[in-house]
Amino acid sequence: MLGKQGKRGQAEEAIPNPTPVTNNEVDDVDKTIDARWKTAESSLMKNILRSQSLSESELETARFLSSAIIRCWREELDTLGEKTQNTPQAPKLLSKWENLLTLQNNEAVHLRAHPDTLDTWIRVYTFLRCAVQAASSAIPSTLASYFEGSERIRDVLARDHGNVFGIWEEGEAMPDHNRDDESEMLGFAMYIDGSYFNHSCDPNVRKTRRGRAMEFRTTREIVAGEELNINYIDTKADGKSRRKELLSGWYFDCKCRRCIDEQALDI
Ligand SMILES: [Zn+2]
Repeated sequence: MLGKQGKRGQAEEAIPNPTPVTNNEVDDVDKTIDARWKTAESSLMKNILRSQSLSESELETARFLSSAIIRCWREELDTLGEKTQNTPQAPKLLSKWENLLTLQNNEAVHLRAHPDTLDTWIRVYTFLRCAVQAASSAIPSTLASYFEGSERIRDVLARDHGNVFGIWEEGEAMPDHNRDDESEMLGFAMYIDGSYFNHSCDPNVRKTRRGRAMEFRTTREIVAGEELNINYIDTKADGKSRRKELLSGWYFDCKCRRCIDEQALDI
């Protein structure tokens, strides 16, 4: 799944510093977000169907969402098919969709930092819903129903930010520990299994894109029980800059060994 030129990413985005919020404020934000989605579900803006109504980046998001939802639909169809066959069931593994749902839901925390994004998301959802309705004669009704409510769209968007990988130019050893600053970012992709890696500012796993796949290789000897970590950001930056970027882009205060050691020295 590839989305291009986004607002989902790493260094190219100016991200405001998140401010601490109270539980009441969190509840209010959640209620507002839910109410906006409910309103979008119950109303249709037919004129948004024209593709020029969406920006290039919104169209990319629409493609990304369509791809994810269609995969979800096909997986559930396959599961249904397996259940109707009277064959012994293999041990149940989580489907890709179920795996996606296990990733951290960043909807509220992301929208608190970027409130305007909700307008974008709802525009994209409304566009997709209109497009699917307009093409209903050519689309299976079970698939069309997946675009009717906003639940699945929200499920994907909530896990997009903070879980996608930047895609850099072909042939680069990217985005590894200290990527070449000349390298051009082409877009973003979601690799669900890869998203299980936590971040460390001193990672022991390097990620490298191979075509449409992402390869993860250890960079040093791993002892039994040691956690495998990748880096979400450029680890050349100083400690305060790294923690600020991680907090604003990935919503956590880095407590990796390197950060703890550096904080003790006030770096
Ligand atoms: Zn760290």
